[in-house]
Amino acid sequence: MSAFVRREGILHAEGVSLAEIAERFGTPCWVYSRHALEEALDEFQSELVGIEALVCYAVKANSNLAVLDVLARRGAGFDIVSGGELRRVLAAGADPRRIVFSGVGKSAGEMELALRVGILCFNVESAAELDRLDAVACEVGKVASISLRVNPDVDARTHPYVSTGLKENKFGVAYEDALPLYRRASSLSNLRVSGIDCHIGSQLLESAPFVEALDKVLLLVDRLAAEGIALEHIDLGGGLGIRYRDEAPPTVRDYLRPILARLRGRRLHVLLEPGRRLVGNAGVLLTRVEYLKPGDVKNFAIVDAAMNDLARPALYGSWHDIVPVVRRQGPVRPWEIVGPVCESGDFLGRGRDLALAAGDLLAIMSAGAYSMSMSSNYNSRPRAAELMVDGNQAHLVRRRETVEELYALENRLP
Ligand SMILES: *Cc1c(COP(=O)(O)O)cnc(C)c1O
Repeated sequence: MSAFVRREGILHAEGVSLAEIAERFGTPCWVYSRHALEEALDEFQSELVGIEALVCYAVKANSNLAVLDVLARRGAGFDIVSGGELRRVLAAGADPRRIVFSGVGKSAGEMELALRVGILCFNVESAAELDRLDAVACEVGKVASISLRVNPDVDARTHPYVSTGLKENKFGVAYEDALPLYRRASSLSNLRVSGIDCHIGSQLLESAPFVEALDKVLLLVDRLAAEGIALEHIDLGGGLGIRYRDEAPPTVRDYLRPILARLRGRRLHVLLEPGRRLVGNAGVLLTRVEYLKPGDVKNFAIVDAAMNDLARPALYGSWHDIVPVVRRQGPVRPWEIVGPVCESGDFLGRGRDLALAAGDLLAIMSAGAYSMSMSSNYNSRPRAAELMVDGNQAHLVRRRETVEELYALENRLP
């Protein structure tokens, strides 16, 4: 059930009216539902009861400390891609033993920090990274648990920018190179071979590519076992899609059923790295109409949120539902919902049939994932505030930036 529902005509997040939030905290702002986050995590965890499994939330989807905290309290682990994300999840109170570290460009400093705090596993993406990690672990006097991220050369059939499991992508080690690299890894004294990992893309709407990738990975698992390299875990990455408009992504149960069936009897721990699926539909971007600019060719509704807040429409042509917080009577027209940023690509929605007046509040739906975490300060726009609603309470979980903060790190010439 959605956490964003209309009550007495007003769109609410759980028990709190979005009109009241706009009044209290100003716009634009992000509003998350604690209940929606917990429900999305439960959907995974309830399928994994009785299985040695860990859901490692992909932090890059939404890295607000309150979001991390809510998920950590329910037993989530974390998938991080930088030292910054590592420090964030530690600040949120995460257990380092539940952290996996992905990414193609881990620096020596990031490796060192992760080794010192004792993360669960490094998802290694190249031969060169393997050597660097061994060297850093030697210096620090630790042994690094590793898995190799294998590129299974599977077409995720999703947007090219978020497809990661094809040979032409920069991610992971080529399937053919995996065996020799595992042999090499098991010969390095500061590495401990622990698992295998793949992540084929994001916003996948079918189960088949996941299963195809898993079958390829399991072939490797068996070949490795035959050589005496026994893996302890398999990490299937993230990528499960959500509904933005009329997509019909699989339920978590349908996604996991064929996967768990193939893993039965194998004694491999299972790691999953969902991002979007946990947070995407747990957040909205709340914005106010500043001006209406009807025209002969197009009608523009200029709102106070922009591409610097929500880049997905400009970046990927993504579609987000845009709904009035309070529906108004009056003529419906197709509106271009655009922000104040000086770029023609600064749109949040196109040709939306709405009855609008200046001052109206709009909720841009499904804005919990890759939204605030990808926002910028372009046009010297302070980043919007973030709220987390929990029942009848709205908590400010990141205050709005001030303009002074935007240039606080800069200096004029002497
Ligand atoms: C981005 C990413 C994820 C999460 O992807 P979603 O599509 O948000 O589930 C998981 N694992 C890795 C390695 C990633 O890069």
